Amino acid sequence: MARNYTLHTAHEPSNRIDYKAELNEQQHAAVTSPPGQALVIAGAGSGKTRTLTYRVAWLLDNGIQPESILLLTFTNKAAREMQERVQALVTQDASRIWGGTFHSIGNRLLRYNAERLGYRKGFSIMDREDQKDLMETVLGSSGIDTTTYRFPKAEVLGDIFSLADNTLCSVKEIIHTRYPYFEEVASGIIKMRKLYQEKKRETNCMDFDDLLALTVQLLEENEDLLERYRRQFEFVLVDEYQDTNSLQCRMVELLTGPQGNLMVVGDDAQSIYSWRGADVTNILEFDKHWPHARVHKIEVNYRSVPEVLNLANATIAMNRGQIPKNLQPARPSKGMLPALVALDSSSAQASFVAQRILELMDEGVDVNEIAVLYRAHFHSMEIQMELTQRGIPFQITSGLRFFEQAHVKDVAAFMKFAVNRQDEVSFMRMVRLCEGIGNVSAAKLWQEWLKSDASKAETMPCTFSEVLVQMKVPKKAKTTWDQFAFTLDELIDKEGRPVTPPMMIRSITEGVYEDYMKAKFKNYEQRQQDLEQLSNFSDRFTDPLEFLSQLSLLSGVDTDNNPAQQQQDRDAVTLTTGHQAKGLEWSVVFAVWLADGMFPHKRAIDEGGDSALEEERRLFYVTVTRAKDELYLTYPVINHQARDGDIMMRPSRFIADLPKDLVEVWNVKSGW
Ligand code: ATP
Ligand code: MG
Repeated sequence: MARNYTLHTAHEPSNRIDYKAELNEQQHAAVTSPPGQALVIAGAGSGKTRTLTYRVAWLLDNGIQPESILLLTFTNKAAREMQERVQALVTQDASRIWGGTFHSIGNRLLRYNAERLGYRKGFSIMDREDQKDLMETVLGSSGIDTTTYRFPKAEVLGDIFSLADNTLCSVKEIIHTRYPYFEEVASGIIKMRKLYQEKKRETNCMDFDDLLALTVQLLEENEDLLERYRRQFEFVLVDEYQDTNSLQCRMVELLTGPQGNLMVVGDDAQSIYSWRGADVTNILEFDKHWPHARVHKIEVNYRSVPEVLNLANATIAMNRGQIPKNLQPARPSKGMLPALVALDSSSAQASFVAQRILELMDEGVDVNEIAVLYRAHFHSMEIQMELTQRGIPFQITSGLRFFEQAHVKDVAAFMKFAVNRQDEVSFMRMVRLCEGIGNVSAAKLWQEWLKSDASKAETMPCTFSEVLVQMKVPKKAKTTWDQFAFTLDELIDKEGRPVTPPMMIRSITEGVYEDYMKAKFKNYEQRQQDLEQLSNFSDRFTDPLEFLSQLSLLSGVDTDNNPAQQQQDRDAVTLTTGHQAKGLEWSVVFAVWLADGMFPHKRAIDEGGDSALEEERRLFYVTVTRAKDELYLTYPVINHQARDGDIMMRPSRFIADLPKDLVEVWNVKSGW
């Protein structure tokens, strides 16, 4: 016989929240539901994220400790924002909640337990570029003959392994289903995976997928840890569940446990990441895994005016593979239909967007409440130029990110190497910055370094220069090489431990990198400012490892804005892709480049299959449902291309398919 007994901690109930008044009936039922498993499935803007936020507040109000709550969100920023909102509602310290992306939570669990997997605590996280570098190194020494037959390049290998990890399939299956043209070389690819995995352990490096895959492995192989974390995370909550892949789903199952308390929210109509392995059946077949789950549906949209919602409903109704929903508007009409605007050219489109933004600002619309959304990052280029010319502040949350820029990564390579002296990729990146050292000398230097005691010791037993200055380097490189060594010395203290991140960054820029930038880059000053911003950002971290993890996570697939942008992001128009805009909302949204071949993407049209086009349509649905008050749908009639000249564009089929009375056509003419 066993008895269940609940221990209540003393706490001040907030009494500040009137749950009934702030939530509708369905939301309230979900927020206050008893422990167990629950699924909230509802359309865009129906308050799913709000429901999760209030659920967290409710749990805290009922005496649950913040660290017993695991909140998995699409971006770290989303988790932070939810924590802030909860903090405004309750008296407990909401920052103690475990919140973040799957990757960042994986990182936290692995930092504590890396040894169990043959890694050391100080492991580095490689981004896509680092991963490619390491893969190339492995490929080079694998003995696989890549010249006589078609063998995938490093990047493609990375994609194959990533899909295998994320879908919990074998490499063989992935080749069979997604890369049949590599069937002939499958055994070489399988061998490469093994070698690559060994190399990662050897160099104490993980790639992004490892942050999930190894977390799952850790929990599957270690009963004691599994139990420990299940006991800790009494309540697991997941936002945007429609875009989880099999690996993430497994991580949730493991951390929750069969009897655990789990609440997931999502919308199958917004599933837009199948190309990255997301599997919408995770949400559609939730009841298969969790037969006792309560299901909550919300059928009211609180975000958008009826005119925007009608358009969104009409759009998504054209998809077949989904749970039918007909969202009702909670808000009254403001009398404006979504605008459909055809423009002569892409530059006219950019002018239209910029001019309309200025007018909206004049009307008193807050710039932060305006967004320009597009299918592909390059669609934003002309708009960026136009906004710059007209002095309209904007932030970009798509495309090359702050942390992926060469200069940021160069500086990080010094830091990573100082912290993890087995990190071959960072060592190679760093030494190749030295004029006169190429791939061959770099590889030799690495071998020599590996022979030293310093490369193996947990803390540095001597200074870096004591080892490095002795090494044989090409004559041309000698002065800079020594300078590198002395700079590395400054990155550790007398006890051999790393100094703080801002101190490190200062030493690296002043010691070597400033000179390098001057010689190497045209826009040296801009980059210099970036590094200053990096240093400012790093100031909030005392532990370099924590900082470097953040850096890698921020440049990864599930990214937030860069810190430079985060600081300015209060007063700017947002430019971003539909993918990145998921879960967010603005008063005014411009959806641009709505021409067939651009949106939907040409590839989806060419492939012809329904499923690719349905996913594009879901992305269009996500895009338009970001708008609260005004929606502008624009496309250029002519696309001018340097090589092929003028090309006539047809409006996107997503627009052409819409009933005509759902939009108002704006005829734009140029004039004075
Ligand atoms: P998405 O599908 O885009 O992620 P969502 O379902 O998560 O949307 P939320 O972002 O939580 O929706 O809510 C959309 C907007 O509606 C927010 O501004 C939110 O504050 C508001 N809202 C939600 N529920 C209510 C409510 N009961 N009363 C008032 N406002 C609400
Ligand atoms: Mg949401």
